[in-house]
Amino acid sequence: MKLKSSEPFWIVKNGILNAYPSLRKDIKTDVLIVGGGITGSLIAHQCIKDGYRTVVADRREIAHGSTSASTAMLQYEIDTPLYQLIAQIGEKAAVASYKACFESIDILAQLAKEIGSDCGFKKKDSLYFAAYKKDVPWLKKEFDARKAHQFPVTWLEQEDVAAKFKLEHTYGGILSDQGASMDVFRMAHDLLAYNHKKGLEVYDKTDIEKVQHQKNGIVATTEYGNKIKAAKIIYCNGYESTEIIKEQFVDLLSTYAIVGEQCAGDQQHLENTLFWNTADPYLYMRTTEDNRLLIGGEDESFVNPEKRDHLLPYKAKRLAQKLERLLPGYDLRRDFMWAGTFGATKDGLPYIGKHPDFKNAYFVLGFGGNGITFSVIGMDMVSCFLQGKQHKLSPYFKFGR
Ligand SMILES: Cc1cc2nc3c(=O)[nH]c(=O)nc-3n(C[C@H](O)[C@H](O)[C@H](O)COP(=O)(O)OP(=O)(O)OC[C@H]3O[C@@H](n4cnc5c(N)ncnc54)[C@H](O)[C@@H]3O)c2cc1C
Repeated sequence: MKLKSSEPFWIVKNGILNAYPSLRKDIKTDVLIVGGGITGSLIAHQCIKDGYRTVVADRREIAHGSTSASTAMLQYEIDTPLYQLIAQIGEKAAVASYKACFESIDILAQLAKEIGSDCGFKKKDSLYFAAYKKDVPWLKKEFDARKAHQFPVTWLEQEDVAAKFKLEHTYGGILSDQGASMDVFRMAHDLLAYNHKKGLEVYDKTDIEKVQHQKNGIVATTEYGNKIKAAKIIYCNGYESTEIIKEQFVDLLSTYAIVGEQCAGDQQHLENTLFWNTADPYLYMRTTEDNRLLIGGEDESFVNPEKRDHLLPYKAKRLAQKLERLLPGYDLRRDFMWAGTFGATKDGLPYIGKHPDFKNAYFVLGFGGNGITFSVIGMDMVSCFLQGKQHKLSPYFKFGR
């Protein structure tokens, strides 16, 4: 599956950060992690911390899957609004899921500091604004639900949004005092490099073609026929997990993003906030560490790479037009445009845990606009699983829920 088109900004900005060898012999380990994106990197960090011999294998270069295409807005706000999630899965489950995402932003901040990452992690507010007048009543309901569960939120009227952010054509929104952004491609690389020094084995361009799930462990075979024996396998294979899991558990979409040239003028009013709206599909934007504006959205419900690439210039133009309506006179000159694969689950929650068809295996599949925060939650969950313990979020994130 081709996960992205054109070159995302982060790959060009960072170039080749670290290259690892492909696997050329048979090896044994405690834990094999399939996938060296942000999820595999975070889980590898946890496994090394917990004292396991750990191997990461990726069929591409490190972090060249969805991680390289990610716009990395770190939000506790799940794609399904809290009040809707409460109606769908119950108050306890919904609030616990939101709280875990909330905490994961601080965990990530701490982690970036601990490993000395150059990923430009920056705490930001998050503004969820009404794109249409008709959305205001349910957005206020969402505000009340968040407030009732002690999330730090403020309601901004249309004129407050215009005064604070110079945004037009909004109808007010929820300002949350918890969010962040970073260069997630860099963070994945930094995590792997940090742990590589501590004994983590990393193999890129190493496709795991076949896995035998046995009673006492697994045997994985690479495209060149080398074998990896492990007690446990953790699939952090992102959207390509749909290639090995029979049932349909996620709807795959195509999504688009553009990045403007570095802003010569003043955009301080945009720098400390993540923006997203109530449109379907939603539009989102943020600034980058080097003072560019990034806008994303325009999702389509297919993943056909040819069709997706064909639409890219049109979608980039649409995103620029939407920006012009929102921030009249901004005059964005586009430097980058790309498309990527995105996934939506029935409740906006990830799939983290065992699957009945795979013995001695766990999956960490963070989908949707919160993919990254879900992957952070996966660290603690996997740590529990490997110790044979249950995790309090397992019932909400499990397969077949
Ligand atoms: C345009 C765009 C914008 C996004 N914006 C945000 C955002 O603002 N906030 C947010 O939280 N999330 C966002 N996401 C989602 C987020 O990027 C993903 O949740 C995250 O990158 C997933 O990371 P991953 O490591 O699970 O998957 P990936 O980065 O895709 O990594 C999976 C890896 O597994 C490897 N692999 C698969 N199968 C095999 C195999 N058999 N053998 C070896 N290797 C294998 C692949 O090569 C790949 O590198 C966005 C995504 C896109 C595309």
